[in-house]
Amino acid sequence: MSLLELRHVSKHFGSYKALDNVSFSVEPGRIVGLIGPNGAGKSTAMRAMTGLMRFDSGEVSFDDQPVKFSKTKALAKMGNLIEYPAIYPNFTAEDHMKYYAMDAKESEDIHELMKLTGIDGPNFGKRKAKHFSLGMKQRLGIAIALVRKPKLVVLDEPMNGLDPQSVREIRALIQKLSDQGIAFLISSHLLDELQRLADDVVIINKGKVIRKTSMADFLSEDKAQVKVKTSDNQAMVAAAEEAGWSVKENDQDEVLITADDGVNAQAVLAKATAINVDVLDIQTATVNLEDHLMEVLSDSDRDRA
Ligand code: ADP
Ligand code: MG
Repeated sequence: MSLLELRHVSKHFGSYKALDNVSFSVEPGRIVGLIGPNGAGKSTAMRAMTGLMRFDSGEVSFDDQPVKFSKTKALAKMGNLIEYPAIYPNFTAEDHMKYYAMDAKESEDIHELMKLTGIDGPNFGKRKAKHFSLGMKQRLGIAIALVRKPKLVVLDEPMNGLDPQSVREIRALIQKLSDQGIAFLISSHLLDELQRLADDVVIINKGKVIRKTSMADFLSEDKAQVKVKTSDNQAMVAAAEEAGWSVKENDQDEVLITADDGVNAQAVLAKATAINVDVLDIQTATVNLEDHLMEVLSDSDRDRA
C-alpha cells in the first residue's frame, strides 16, 4: 500500500486546468522528486494533497485515510513546507519548535530535532527569525515539518534561492532523515537539484504527469551522442536515417546521431565506411540531463498537439 496516493486529481482555476487527471504515489521511505517547469502545477498538487486547497475531482489518500480539504486528522503524520515556512519574525528557532510541538499528540524531542537539522548552533541561539538567512529559515521550516514525527514530508522547492553550500546542506539533511525511514516528496523546477537525492521521479508539465519512473531509469536514458564531420554529410544523414537512427545536421556542418539502441562511435564509423564516406572528425558527448528533461517535455507537448 502506498503511503501517499493521488488518483485522477484535477483542479481548475477558472477555465485553466492547473491539474489534469494527476495520478502518482509515494512509497514508504522513498524520496520522490516532483519535477517540472515553473507553472507546471507542482505547488497546486502539493496544496491539494496536504489539504490546503480544494480540488475538483479525484482522490488523495495518505496513510490509508482519504485526504480532503482542511481535514487535518488524516494529515497528522504528514509534515510540509509549501512556499514559505510560517515563521514569526520575533520568535527564536526554539520558540518556533515549542510552538509547533504544542498541539502535536506525539512530538519529537525538540532539542534533538534542532541538533539534527542544524538549527541549534551559535548562529541560531537567541537570535530572532527576522535575522535568519534564507538557508536558516529553510532548515527551521524543515525542522517544524518534522515536529509531529511524520511518515512523509512534503517540501515545495526547498532549494529555491539558496546558495550552493546551503543546497548541499539541505540535501544532506534530507538524506539523513530519509535514512531514518521518513519519506519525502520534493518539488523542483531543476532536475539536477534532485538527481542525486530522489529515488523516484514524477515529471509534470502543464498540469499533466508525463512520466513516472525511478531516478536510476530516468538517468540511464541519458543518451550519448555521436558527432561526426564527414566528406559527404548528406549521404551520412541518409544512411543513418535508413538505419533508423535519430540524426540531424547542425549549422556547423556536423552530423549528430543520438545513440539510442546501442549506436556508438564504432557503429557510426562502420556505417560511413560501408557507404564510402570519409570521417573527418568524430566525437562522442553525453546529452546532459537538463537537456534530456527538455526533450521529454517537448515530446509531451508534441504528443498533445
Ligand atoms: P508550479 O508550482 O509548478 O510553478 P503552480 O502550481 O503554482 O505551478 O501553478 C500552476 C498554474 O496554475 C500556473 O499557471 C498558475 O498561474 C496557476 N495558478 C496557481 N494558483 C492559482 C490561483 N490561486 N489562481 C489562479 N491561477 C493559479
Ligand atoms: Mg510552485
